[in-house]
Amino acid sequence: MNKILQDIERSQEKLLNLLIQIAKIPSPTGFEKVKIEYIKDQLSKLGLKKVIIDDAGNCIANLPAQNKSKQSKTILVVAHTDTACDPGGEVQIREDKKYIYGHGICDNSAGVVGLLTTLELIQKNNLKFPHNLIFGFTVGEEGLGAKRGMKAIIKRFGKEIDAVINVESHHIGRVTNQAIGQYRSEIIIDTKIGGHSYRDFGRPNANVILASIISDFSKFKLSQKKGKTTFNIGDMKGEASINAIASKSACLFEIRSEDNDSLLKTQQKLESILNQYRKKFPGVEITNNISAQVPAVTFSKNHKIYHLTTKAQKKLGITPKINAGNTDGDVSLAANIPTVTIGTSEGWNTHSFDEYMEKASLSLGIKQVFLVINEVASNY
Ligand SMILES: [Zn+2]
Repeated sequence: MNKILQDIERSQEKLLNLLIQIAKIPSPTGFEKVKIEYIKDQLSKLGLKKVIIDDAGNCIANLPAQNKSKQSKTILVVAHTDTACDPGGEVQIREDKKYIYGHGICDNSAGVVGLLTTLELIQKNNLKFPHNLIFGFTVGEEGLGAKRGMKAIIKRFGKEIDAVINVESHHIGRVTNQAIGQYRSEIIIDTKIGGHSYRDFGRPNANVILASIISDFSKFKLSQKKGKTTFNIGDMKGEASINAIASKSACLFEIRSEDNDSLLKTQQKLESILNQYRKKFPGVEITNNISAQVPAVTFSKNHKIYHLTTKAQKKLGITPKINAGNTDGDVSLAANIPTVTIGTSEGWNTHSFDEYMEKASLSLGIKQVFLVINEVASNY
């Protein structure tokens, strides 16, 4: 084992090259196909036999247990392949002595490198485990993808899976045992009637109605008693020129909470405000299209999966930090499957074009990914 870890340490340059290869293939949510095919190709080159792309577009590789028995469990290891906000054009990567910069360089090219490298090491060193391993490179984790790739995997294998290791971008030492509850929707106002801004003044204006709804909602005091609760308004759109009454407007809306009760109350507040406006403007269509609803779930940090994870981290001198997050892990946590999310690098400015990674952190991150997978695959 020490020799393998030393090998990873020595291959920093190779790891960075693979990281650049992965990050350079654009893969905005919904457009991951080229990257997924590249990954499948890499896996075939490693001599893995059971590699498929499923109906959702995920790349899945199966590594059966050495001596399958009743005691053999099944561990799912996943990393998402989509990036949060690149438009799908060329991804610019640049580096200096200490850092490497580019959209998706950490999130989640680092995680993908973690899984590919682990599979390479398993193959090269002919490592065998008492448990079955399923490796999933998922699509649609970010934003409006609403974890659709992970949902497909859990739907397909859910009952077989005993534990999930979800490999994310950063930070190293992260041990996520908690999914933050989430509610996401798009609020759409359609007045069905526009008009001349001066001549028809007095007709309902979609932009004004939407702004009033948001203003009313923002006055609501979010409960912070049993955990943090937040809301966000994203991507507001109004249609109309300077001298026309807007007939349509829309915004993206999100609530997050560590507490299901607060999540529900905040959700109900939004609904009641929308109903007030529906009554006030009977001719106006006010729709709320829900795109994601995730319950808040916490697994005890004393669960075996976290013990094995932190044991591996401590072997490498990493200080574990238990935390909460929203990742592909939400889906398996919600399905009541013990799930740990770990990080692969030290990086900053995630979900932006200024994302960057401390280069020296990558080999430690990859060692940790390998060792955590190894520990859980051997001892779960
Ligand atoms: Zn991510």
